[in-house]
Amino acid sequence: MTGAATGIGAAIVTLLAREGAHVLAVDIDGDALRHDLPGITNCVCDVTSAAQVEAMVQAVIDTHGRLDMLFNNAGVGALCDVAETDDDTWDKVFRVNITAVMYGCRAAVPHMRQAGGGAIVNTASISGMRGDYGYGPYNAAKGAVINYTRSLALDLGRDKIRVNALCPGFIANTRLTATLEKLPQRREWDESIPLGRAGTADEMAKVAAFLASDDASYVTGAILAADGGVTAHTGQVN
Ligand code: NAD
Repeated sequence: MTGAATGIGAAIVTLLAREGAHVLAVDIDGDALRHDLPGITNCVCDVTSAAQVEAMVQAVIDTHGRLDMLFNNAGVGALCDVAETDDDTWDKVFRVNITAVMYGCRAAVPHMRQAGGGAIVNTASISGMRGDYGYGPYNAAKGAVINYTRSLALDLGRDKIRVNALCPGFIANTRLTATLEKLPQRREWDESIPLGRAGTADEMAKVAAFLASDDASYVTGAILAADGGVTAHTGQVN
């Protein structure tokens, strides 16, 4: 489980541990990574390092002998004007949001194949389905997560490995949204959401846990928006 220190990842880790799973909680931020529930092992890892991701997967295999689920959830955003987009920003957004998803899948799939199946959940975003003002690199990277998820679902179906994407809408009080929370238009966004409010990390965790569970045994290649109805809207105002 990557991006596990805060926000949506922390909520997923907590939910899975409460349901009795053994979870490796992975994050680059060792100070914030402080899970103490039984069943959770904290692991500092930079998911943009292929070697560290391979070590993360190997640690699970060494300890438990198998890997049933992989959650590629780590993500970073960046607000930038197209004319001022520097290479470092573009590379970082792509490395964390999509290259790391490939690293995780590449490391985990051989073990899942050997075990006869598994479930992968990639955290994309409705920002991979639609555009946002000023978030081009993030939108592009999350779009890549969505279509990579579809391709993997095809490639891994016969291996009984299901691959799905969770697409959160606006989820309040995560590190990713901390700056946006303070903007004056914050209240207007809530009003523009059909359900009338931002979502919570706990709500995302329930959807992610469903996608990874046997309850979703016939679900693969799904791109599931959990967005309070935002992507149901054409954008036209009556
Ligand atoms: P968050 O910032 O609270 O969590 C992201 C975590 O990823 C952080 O703990 C961070 O330390 C970790 N991370 C960043 N770079 C890393 C790296 N190189 N290696 C390992 N860990 C790294 O934000 P969140 O809102 O919980 O976001 C979780 C996921 O949900 C992200 O993929 C994000 O793009 C996606 N998402 C969030 C929202 C939202 O509104 N919060 C909406 C749509 C999608």
